[in-house]
Amino acid sequence: MVGKVRINAGRCVGAIRCGVCLSVCPAGCFSIDKKNRKVVVVNEDACMECYACKVQCKYDAVELGF
Ligand code: SF4
Ligand code: SF4
Repeated sequence: MVGKVRINAGRCVGAIRCGVCLSVCPAGCFSIDKKNRKVVVVNEDACMECYACKVQCKYDAVELGF
């Protein structure tokens, strides 16, 4: 895996239908891709390794490398 926070775009249902990871991340690691409305990682250096995104994603789309 490249990087420690990764979104599997094939699994992610998008920020409009879901967006839970965006809401729960306390560090602002995620944003919305303007083209496909999926969630993208924009600031993984700020990640606090809290696992909230991974635990809350119902679609198992978040991959954490720590
Ligand atoms: S919680 Fe999972 S399915 Fe929902 S927007 Fe985030 S990565 Fe996508
Ligand atoms: S593990 Fe926590 S801080 Fe890191 S991206 Fe997920 S919700 Fe944000």
